[in-house]
Amino acid sequence: MIELTHIEKRFGDNIVLRDISVLLPESTVTALVGPSGGGKSTLLRCINLLETPTFGKIRVGSEEIELTPDRKLGWKSIQSLRRQTGMVFQSFQLFPHRTAIGNVMEGLVTVLKWPADKARKRAIELLEKVGMAHKADAWPATLSGGQQQRVAIARALAPSPRVLLCDEPTSALDPELAEEVVDVLSQLARENTTMVMATHDLRLASRVANKVLFLDGGLIVESGEPREIFASPQQERTKKFIASLS
Ligand code: ATP
Ligand code: MG
Repeated sequence: MIELTHIEKRFGDNIVLRDISVLLPESTVTALVGPSGGGKSTLLRCINLLETPTFGKIRVGSEEIELTPDRKLGWKSIQSLRRQTGMVFQSFQLFPHRTAIGNVMEGLVTVLKWPADKARKRAIELLEKVGMAHKADAWPATLSGGQQQRVAIARALAPSPRVLLCDEPTSALDPELAEEVVDVLSQLARENTTMVMATHDLRLASRVANKVLFLDGGLIVESGEPREIFASPQQERTKKFIASLS
């Protein structure tokens, strides 16, 4: 379970997240949607401390961290929270000098110190799960965007994180390749993977998410099931945003 309590994030004088409190239960998929600059990526990045909230409390599983501006976080606490999470980025960010399987094995071997055989076995299982086992020895540059993103998903899942965080996982892809990635994410959702994703792709949100949080101006303006939010939004700002997309 992920619990965010009174999260505030400022960049200088710019308040980007305003008093966000939300509970994201285990085995659910939450989509963060809303206009550009609304705070989706920042909220996602606060969960694994790629951004440090100015105030607030973050709990992922049994790891909890409370932040105040005068509290300097130790590397150890950052690492223990971050290890509960896996992250997938819009631009894949595979290691170019490692093959597909090498990318999935990398963290297991270098960070978790798994023996290579064990890491290879786990990597093959994950590449099978994302439909990429046939490309295990391929270099990232020779793969399509959709294939690279599926390898990136396998890599993020390798250390069995409690939650998979995805920032615009389909936004860099043509519709057909985006579809491959949506299929994989939707399969993971059926297998009860806990996920939080920031996305402009309402198709992805409708197919995969149990819950949608609509963020605008650093606030959760409205939340609910995808069909509630997309078919009958209640708040003016949400209505305007949904209307602007069609
Ligand atoms: P998009 O849909 O375009 O991805 P978003 O909802 O993900 O937008 P964020 O990237 O979270 O929005 O940005 C929220 C606000 O925080 C914006 O005003 C942005 O300019 C600001 N911001 C984000 N990162 C930084 C940073 N590192 N330094 C300063 N301001 C930042
Ligand atoms: Mg963003």
